[in-house]
Amino acid sequence: MSYEGPEFDPRPSPPSRRGRRALIAALVVALAAAGVAVQRAVGGDGDGAAPAASSGSPDARATPGGSPGAASGSPSVSGTSSPPASSTARPPAKRGPLSGKVVVIDPGHNTGNAAHTAEINRTVRIGNGAKECDTTGTSTDAGYAEAKFTLDVSRRLRALLEQQGATVRLTQDGDRPWGPCIDERARIGNEAKADAVVSVHADGSAAGNRGFHVILPGTVTQGGADTRGIVGPSRELGERIAGNFVRATGSAPSDYVGDGTGLVTREDLGGLNLSKVPKVFIECGNMRNGKDAALLTSAAWRQKAAQGISGGIVGFLRG
Ligand SMILES: [Zn+2]
Repeated sequence: MSYEGPEFDPRPSPPSRRGRRALIAALVVALAAAGVAVQRAVGGDGDGAAPAASSGSPDARATPGGSPGAASGSPSVSGTSSPPASSTARPPAKRGPLSGKVVVIDPGHNTGNAAHTAEINRTVRIGNGAKECDTTGTSTDAGYAEAKFTLDVSRRLRALLEQQGATVRLTQDGDRPWGPCIDERARIGNEAKADAVVSVHADGSAAGNRGFHVILPGTVTQGGADTRGIVGPSRELGERIAGNFVRATGSAPSDYVGDGTGLVTREDLGGLNLSKVPKVFIECGNMRNGKDAALLTSAAWRQKAAQGISGGIVGFLRG
């Protein structure tokens, strides 16, 4: 995450009991079906066991040393394949189950942000407050930047959704020097009248913390923001993505937020507060945790992550 002030709402709204039970049941089934080592989810392998004191102050926007190298250097990845670079002219949409559906994918941050601090540090209104336009994002200890991760997963996700017939738009495609600002990211989804929007991130939490989580919009009705119409459908989108993400990646829900559900509700994110269409964020893992970092830097794992997110979107859009 790492881009907007306090990492986590200290009092995240717990999901409804019914929704939570349903999700937990779905996760258990998915874990069992995937043959995943369930002990990981309960901290059996040690590192995920006790967030304890280490969970206090996640390392927010650190791009270590502020080094632009973190954003532009060669990441150590365990795979070399990469989706094709973007092009402004997208091929015509295929016929498929998602024909007529519009999906906006928001790759968090921008690899150029570190070199444009003045631009990204200006504040923008987010309804119930103000936030920086954008932030640099975090990185792994080895310097693999979150912004590289988010763009790679987003391009993979676009390819999967286009195969299903969806019309897909990215808020940035490595085709601009910085940003966009978080309010513009929301506006792109609104103006596209997107049927679903997903903002892709990886977290910069304490090193002992593991796992993914999906962030849902809370109810905000201030300063031009009004999320009342999207809270319900965004939750459904988020639950579907969380379930599919477990199944596709074998990753466990976060052991440091969300009480094991992989779902967290926040009201301090401009990208959610300003959205008029169903939208969630996903923190695919914790870049500052060694085991999560090994996954996040693997091209094969990023493909699985994209498949999990895609599966959730497809399920949501097909009902
Ligand atoms: Zn982020």
